[in-house]
Amino acid sequence: MRLFGSWINNNDNTGDNQVASSGRRYFLAAGCACCATYALNISPAAAQSPDVQRHLAAARTAAGSDLTQLLKLGNVALPASQKKGPSVQALMAQPAPPPGKAFDNLYFVGGKWVSAWAVTTSAGIILIDAMNNADDAEHVIVAGMRKLGLDPAQIKMVVITHGHGDHYGGANYLVEHFHPQIIASEADWTMMETKLEFDVPSWGRPPKRDAVVEDGAKLTLGDTTVDIVMTPGHTMGTISVAFDAKEGDKTHRAFLWGGTSFNFGKQPNRMERLQAYIDSTDRVRDMAGKQNVDVFLSNHSGMDLADVKLAQMSQGGPNPFVGSAETTQRALTVMHECALATKAAWSV
Ligand SMILES: [Zn+2]
Ligand SMILES: [Zn+2]
Repeated sequence: MRLFGSWINNNDNTGDNQVASSGRRYFLAAGCACCATYALNISPAAAQSPDVQRHLAAARTAAGSDLTQLLKLGNVALPASQKKGPSVQALMAQPAPPPGKAFDNLYFVGGKWVSAWAVTTSAGIILIDAMNNADDAEHVIVAGMRKLGLDPAQIKMVVITHGHGDHYGGANYLVEHFHPQIIASEADWTMMETKLEFDVPSWGRPPKRDAVVEDGAKLTLGDTTVDIVMTPGHTMGTISVAFDAKEGDKTHRAFLWGGTSFNFGKQPNRMERLQAYIDSTDRVRDMAGKQNVDVFLSNHSGMDLADVKLAQMSQGGPNPFVGSAETTQRALTVMHECALATKAAWSV
């Protein structure tokens, strides 16, 4: 495999998993780490402030009728009583949808709640995220790949989009069985090694530090290059990826956002993270316009409706994953405006 760009190998594993199991875990009392809200209580007056309402209205306009699932991001600006979600255990317990082929070189091998995506290349597979634990890795990711005719032994790289257990929990299983390189950002490797901001007992332990990528890095495997785009906010080291998605003789440009929800409301650096999210959505909106990104994906089906779209595909017709550059711009605007609404609510 060839690696280009800002790529650093670091095999210094001092202390790694000991810290995560030392009792300094942050357990979730309720709600979920990744796709539901987990925020400060906002007073009803703050939620109704003109600034908050203006940004939420802009988000609703951008969402139109096809992107309404993203509007839940704006719920952070609502009073706590209106935004309680199911527990992470309940979310994990949902039966996985059937695996599916979204493009000639992109396969969904995830669960109902959290996704895993396999990018196939001429020299192996790049897996995006590892789900919650070894059980998921074996019975959802690996079993799903086999069902789709993919060989899990061909997994050469696993990109961990960010340091929350629903994305790294199955990584150790994959390393043990298939020996891929595990890729994450410096900030989130550090978080996985030192202080997990969320944890539940049913998540696998973090993988040992392996490869570090920075913004602009290119993961090249065979005939395929996946561009690393740092999108801090959800965590300060959240990785998103951009790549070509092929369908017959057509090539689409796909962007997979690596961390969507605002789950940092009780963290001391919440304003810094929210501002980073605002800046990330702004930057990627510009980048996506220039690259004509017409496929906008997530690592939670609740955000990109991947499970619904895969079910639609089995009925035939046009590929529901293919949108347009304009759809992608609107999705990023919904995310951006919901973040601005939340900032306004937190600033009252
Ligand atoms: Zn997360
Ligand atoms: Zn997540």
